[in-house]
Amino acid sequence: MKYKLLTGVYQQLDSTSKRLLKTKILSDFLKKVPESEIERVYLLVQGRVFPGYDERKLGVAAKLVIKALATASGKENKDIMKEWRKIGDLGEVAEKVISNKSQRTLFSRSLSVQKVFENLQKLAVIEGAGTVNRKVKLLAELLTSASDVEAKYIVRTVLEDLRVGLGEGTLRDAIVWAFFPKQIELKFDEKANKIDVDRKKYNEYSDAVQDAYDVLTDFGQVAIIAKTEHIAGLKKVKLSPGKPVKVMLYQKAADIKDAFERVGKPAAIEYKYDGFRVLINKKGKEIKLFTRRLEEVTKQFPDIVEEVKKLKGNFIIDSEIIGLDEKGRYLPFQKISQRIKRKHNIAQMVKDYPVKINVFDILYLDGKSLLTVPFEDRRKLLKKLCPKLLAKQIMTSSEKDAEKFYQESLQAGNEGIMVKNLKGIYKPGSRVGYGVKVKPVMETVDAVIVGAEWGSGKRSKWLASFVVAVLDKDTGEFVEIGKVGTGIKEKADEGVSFKEMTDLLNPLIREEKDRSVRVEPKIVIEVNYEEIQKSPKYASGFALRFPRFIRLREDRRAKECTTLDELKTFYHDQRGRGK
Ligand code: AMP
Repeated sequence: MKYKLLTGVYQQLDSTSKRLLKTKILSDFLKKVPESEIERVYLLVQGRVFPGYDERKLGVAAKLVIKALATASGKENKDIMKEWRKIGDLGEVAEKVISNKSQRTLFSRSLSVQKVFENLQKLAVIEGAGTVNRKVKLLAELLTSASDVEAKYIVRTVLEDLRVGLGEGTLRDAIVWAFFPKQIELKFDEKANKIDVDRKKYNEYSDAVQDAYDVLTDFGQVAIIAKTEHIAGLKKVKLSPGKPVKVMLYQKAADIKDAFERVGKPAAIEYKYDGFRVLINKKGKEIKLFTRRLEEVTKQFPDIVEEVKKLKGNFIIDSEIIGLDEKGRYLPFQKISQRIKRKHNIAQMVKDYPVKINVFDILYLDGKSLLTVPFEDRRKLLKKLCPKLLAKQIMTSSEKDAEKFYQESLQAGNEGIMVKNLKGIYKPGSRVGYGVKVKPVMETVDAVIVGAEWGSGKRSKWLASFVVAVLDKDTGEFVEIGKVGTGIKEKADEGVSFKEMTDLLNPLIREEKDRSVRVEPKIVIEVNYEEIQKSPKYASGFALRFPRFIRLREDRRAKECTTLDELKTFYHDQRGRGK
């Protein structure tokens, strides 16, 4: 398939913000894509070349793109830098410099989706001597054969910022529209921007697609099953240990009374440990650990692997790993997050930062998926499987007992409690409310940094103020909610410093104007605030009052930040509490 066809679709998607129309555009295209290309194409429309669970990263900075553009266009680096400063977006810079070039070269080869995809994948695996030059060469090779529009989208893909506005909902619905239009009796009225469907059927088919996606975590694979094996195939998608699955998420309850109202009585109440979440997979002797971002962290935790080896059977269990100090007390998350990042000298890390596993759920055991088994029965299975590693739990209908347990949990250094419905199923990837969390503080926001400003005076070497955003799930875009500077330190030994933030963000800078920069949305930070206000100043329609940096959330991908819908709920909740 020609890459030109795909960039045509990008342009169409780019030209509208209407979700239904985007779904239509994508589904019409999907129908035409041959089976052998679906996986690649569906990753590329998401602006990626690896599925979410794949550890590999492109690792391409703006500077490298500039070099490749210089090589492909025959221009000087500094001229391209100049354009970049003027235009601000490297994709558009590419479009401009490549368009000038293509007027001269008449016989450029036409690019295939496969070629683009493969070259981009190769970028991720290049290591060792001459890495930069080899990456420049691979990218320049693509750009030399690209048309202006193709160059724009290649560059945006490489920088992991495609910006065609596809949220997860649209990606899912496009599969339903493409392969089951008759079954759901789909009629789309473009003018009125409305659809007419058999709602019940629509829900059934879109749930089947979503459920398969939650297990496979790759829309491309799901699309192929929908196309070739239809709904029966989707319903057959099974868990198997060794492959990452999306974890179930929890809603927030205002207090214990609210928690009981939402999950029913009696409920299971557990410590809410403040560590990081790991899905532990065991199949024979093979053990694999995945974070909630679906990244594999097995190598970083040989101590956990040893512990899990002692358990019998094949399984996928869900757990929170916490750090301990020398007296056996819980350590704040920030300390043990170092272990996730560490690739070398692991033995020393194991000694310096011992950890403890707290298992709170099970998804699969010895050939059987347990996703639809009630929580109380899953817990019984866990009791047999790993009695020593269980998260602390009580079962009660009494608010008084629950309150006591909550205080005990806080005393022990935990974040709060989880209150869980005894009959709840395990629903990967969704925040369905079979369990809720109760925490004492106002809900913090996990925000993505999308921009920053250089500081002044003694902070002038550093980025000192950070523009943060949340995710609008309808459009897939990040929308701004404020600027954060407070809470970040001048000295490294006091916590996360301006220098550390600057080092993190520098390679992600895409645009630079005066003292402000725009960065690739990658870094997620947890932010506290006094209040959420309505505000026309930011694209989200909301602003955080007195936002304060709490910590880096290295365990979250940008797309896993707080959503605009959640922010709206926080806004309304605070009203409810009389703020
Ligand atoms: P939050 O990150 O505030 O949405 O809270 C949910 C997180 O709490 C989960 O993703 C887990 O990482 C963590 N957690 C700690 N203890 C438990 C528990 N007993 N059950 C479920 N999740 C837990």
